[in-house]
Amino acid sequence: MAGSVLQLLNSVLHTEHSHNYFYSFLLLASATACASIALVAWKRRKKGPLASTTALFMFATSWWGLTYAIHWFNIPGLDYLFWLDASYLGVVLVPATFLVFAIRFTGAGDWITKKKLILLAIEPVATLIILWTDNLHNLFFAGMRMENSTSILCGGPWFWVNALYSYSLIFVAVVIIIRFAFNTRGVYRKQAAIILFGAMIPWLSSIVSVMDISPVSDLDLTPFGFTLTGIAFAYALFRLNLLNIVPVARDALVEIMSDGFFVVDLRNCVVDINLAAQKFLGISKASIGKNAEYLFRNTPDLVRLYRSREEGDFEFFTEFYGQRHLHMQIVPLYDNRKQRTGRLFIFRDITERKIGEIEIQKANKLLQEQLYEIKLLQTELRRQAIRDPLTDLYNRRYLEEFLEEEVARAEREGTPLSILMLDIDHFKSFNDTHGHRAGDAVLKGLGELMRSKTRSQGDIACRYGGEEFVIVLTDTTLCHAAVRAEQFRSGFEKMNISVGGVNLSATLSVGVATFPEHGTSSESVLHIADNALYKAKEMGRNRVVTA
Ligand code: GH3
Ligand code: MG
Ligand code: MG
Repeated sequence: MAGSVLQLLNSVLHTEHSHNYFYSFLLLASATACASIALVAWKRRKKGPLASTTALFMFATSWWGLTYAIHWFNIPGLDYLFWLDASYLGVVLVPATFLVFAIRFTGAGDWITKKKLILLAIEPVATLIILWTDNLHNLFFAGMRMENSTSILCGGPWFWVNALYSYSLIFVAVVIIIRFAFNTRGVYRKQAAIILFGAMIPWLSSIVSVMDISPVSDLDLTPFGFTLTGIAFAYALFRLNLLNIVPVARDALVEIMSDGFFVVDLRNCVVDINLAAQKFLGISKASIGKNAEYLFRNTPDLVRLYRSREEGDFEFFTEFYGQRHLHMQIVPLYDNRKQRTGRLFIFRDITERKIGEIEIQKANKLLQEQLYEIKLLQTELRRQAIRDPLTDLYNRRYLEEFLEEEVARAEREGTPLSILMLDIDHFKSFNDTHGHRAGDAVLKGLGELMRSKTRSQGDIACRYGGEEFVIVLTDTTLCHAAVRAEQFRSGFEKMNISVGGVNLSATLSVGVATFPEHGTSSESVLHIADNALYKAKEMGRNRVVTA
């Protein structure tokens, strides 16, 4: 089957040896395709040296095809061998430009210097000179080229030097692209594969031609190979944006990024992962193609998020790279038909921020505690400001404030308010007899008694001066107040205060006055109560006198 096709092809190509129009048209079509690509690439030359290299490479293949076609048209009047010689300009340019292309494509463009380009040009220039002066020395064709022979498929020593040099360059270029294909991924690997496919065709067809094992005998198939290369390049150029993005830059960016990322497809396979992500998650590059959940099994937080979330921002903790807090963003991926293709996971190390947050929280807690303490102290200070330290009763300042308010209220509400004024009897001599400390103990004891009997809301007990006390009884009539006063008096009288193993006791006198009966202001009622107290002292002490 294949044999008969080749036979047919051979017969078509060989209908007329010196006017092979079919072969020529094919060559012209190929040259046009390559020229178009050269033009497009040339227009994009500002996008980087890869574009101009592509343009030169495609120009060379186009030139090869064009001149070869003219040669095969064998137009009468045109020097038939002149065009064959001219085609060699393309022939020598192709391997060199392809090598430069390969180097630039894989991102090693820096390596190419002017000096190296000149070195690279020596052999092609030499070949052209030797070829075009062949009739002087026969170094190229070795006299094997005859007027009606179309074949230049074997020749002299320089023919073989050039063949060896050209295939070496192409071989090196192919190796460079293969290495790149293995070290890259995604769309760039696809580009590399397409370019390789394109590059292999002329290489193989050249070998076939030079080895003279071509099924179509003496026709050189190499130009067609380069046409296919051109088409493959065009595909890479237009569909895969060969010249828009330098693939290596993408790889470099992704790898030096301190943010980690990985991509998972719909089968839950990791299809891409960068260095930072490998470090964060404690997995190796070999994880590409493996099941994501399996790979992340040692980071339970991640597995949980992986299972439950399609997109969003999350935080989790990992211990593979020290104790790290990571922020993770999940982005759903779609193809150009809006179909879901997978998910992109981006990580950022937020440990420093997290530690900062924890520090702030600690500091905040400390502040809260200090604030609480300050509040306690404030309360205590406020308490101390209104209380007498010895007896813990309210002090005179507080009494005055309180009394003012309570009198105003009693006035508003039309309720009575009574005041008891108490004074310990002969306290000066008590002090003199038993000492100041014993006196203090008596004052304290009286304070306790007063507090215990003024628990009801609205009543307050105060130390008014040295051994003088005031009790305010809100909503209490004079009559009721007199009863309460008597309770205080008798309660105090019965009180035994032990000082240094000795039981002591004292008595007190009480004056009672009531608002509004005895005064319309707090001062006047206090004054009347004081007068009543004075009366009690006069009447012999240890008694209650109402105003
Ligand atoms: P009277 O029955 O007339 O009230 O006689 P008195 O001795 O109590 O008279 P006066 O009010 O003149 O004396 C008050 C005394 O109270 C004077 C002072 O020694 C004593 N005193 C005042 N404050 C304190 C105190 O904080 N501690 C002690 N231990 N004694 C005090
Ligand atoms: Mg007294
Ligand atoms: Mg007194």
